[in-house]
Amino acid sequence: MAFELNKKVVNLVPYDPICGDYRIRLDANESFILPDEKLMEKIHKAIDEIKYNRYPDPLAKKLCKTFAEFYSIDADFVTACNGSDESISVIMNAFLQKGDKIVNVSPDFSMYKFYSSIVECECITVEKNEDFTFDIDKIIKTANENKARLIIFSNPCNPSSVGCKREEVKRLIKSVDSLVILDEAYMDFWNQSLLDEFNDYDNLIILRTCSKALTMAGIRLGFCVANKTLTNAIRSVKSPYNSNSITQAIGIAVLEEKEYLNACVEKVIKSRDELYSEMKKLEKDFPNMLFSVAPNTNFVYTNFMGKAKDIFEYLKKDGIIVRHMGEYLRITAGTDYENKEVVKGIREYLEKVKA
Ligand SMILES: *Cc1c(COP(=O)(O)O)cnc(C)c1O
Repeated sequence: MAFELNKKVVNLVPYDPICGDYRIRLDANESFILPDEKLMEKIHKAIDEIKYNRYPDPLAKKLCKTFAEFYSIDADFVTACNGSDESISVIMNAFLQKGDKIVNVSPDFSMYKFYSSIVECECITVEKNEDFTFDIDKIIKTANENKARLIIFSNPCNPSSVGCKREEVKRLIKSVDSLVILDEAYMDFWNQSLLDEFNDYDNLIILRTCSKALTMAGIRLGFCVANKTLTNAIRSVKSPYNSNSITQAIGIAVLEEKEYLNACVEKVIKSRDELYSEMKKLEKDFPNMLFSVAPNTNFVYTNFMGKAKDIFEYLKKDGIIVRHMGEYLRITAGTDYENKEVVKGIREYLEKVKA
């Protein structure tokens, strides 16, 4: 007798981002902002009140209500998950069956394709335009011709940081029979959200995460927003206690602080703008050696014309981690100091190879 892993998992390896001790981490699009003293005190108090021997509220009602108030929507249509990663996994497991087809776009967040492979679905990829704008007509055509059950993409996009205007996203949703999963992980940094009209469609689920603009990657918290039918299905298939007591307590404490969070978003946008303008200066000083895409997110996506891997290694030796993706580096906006250090490192490298 011998147990063998099935085909779909036998060759998988665990997700293993760069760990270890680096002085500057600009690789995961987290917020650089830690709670201030006052908020930290509030968080500690909320944690002190947790009854650790009891299960948490399975529907995280107060947490969903606080999230809903932050975005001025109705909490009846909100489901809390253990990060958007869990949302994607739960949705794909529930709404797809083996052999179904889904449509994604490229470049985009790599986890979509991964989760669809676990449910044994065929993932059909529509390439974006050269400037990373979305070819909505092609997405519609591909979805309809293939009777796709689901379309998923991030808006604005990780990694390109280019977004698709809401009118265009609406046109897509209305033109297909597929369920559209609209991942708005970075929409706090842009103004083209569809959160105010999720209820107008029978085929739309919007994903939001607390990991990026909302400063809480560590507590694992994301939300699905969708009409009553879809929400009921998501709540029914998720594991009952997916959002733990600590996450719920901290999530409530922080999401109640509207002004604080809005100020955090402003700070990150300012840092992003500074990083982008520094990268554009490099572009001027080193013609044809790099090109940065205008960002709608909290990171800058830069083509280094064949040198991305080298620069990645050069920065890493100096204790600076960014995300290397083919010809590109994706650099998260950090503190003033972090931005200066990463730009300084890139400048040094470019000067060396130019000489
Ligand atoms: C970071 C990211 C997520 C993951 O969010 P978690 O809530 O931390 O799981 C989802 N989608 C996109 C596009 C992201 O960049």
